[in-house]
Amino acid sequence: MHEWALAEAIIASASEIAEKEGLKEVKEVKIKVGELQQIELDILEFALSQLKPAKFKDAKFNIEVAKAELKCRVCGHKWIFKKEKLDESTAEAIHFVPEIAHAYIKCPKCGSPDFEILEGRGVWLESVKGVKQGDG
Ligand SMILES: [Zn+2]
Repeated sequence: MHEWALAEAIIASASEIAEKEGLKEVKEVKIKVGELQQIELDILEFALSQLKPAKFKDAKFNIEVAKAELKCRVCGHKWIFKKEKLDESTAEAIHFVPEIAHAYIKCPKCGSPDFEILEGRGVWLESVKGVKQGDG
């Protein structure tokens, strides 16, 4: 159900942006989803297609997964989290409970498990494109 609530929120903010920019028809909505966010993209896409209002009838929802960037609190080293390096069950555990990441991921430079997540959590709207009022 999480995905449906999210889809609603995405459409609400995209509608607001469309309104502000005077779009009469929305053609493309770009969404970014953090890699560590627990979202089933298939369900999200389906929910978006079901919930979209008339103004969005031809809209394409472009969902991109944003890489997770981590920063070590001890030595300050920054690195990009690569899920492929973990075994499958660990990756799965992190997918469902992002906090678990701290138990498995260590700084590649100094080995400290004390890091912060700079990017890779949350969901945000990258852009909303469409046809403006008065355009052909
Ligand atoms: Zn470090």
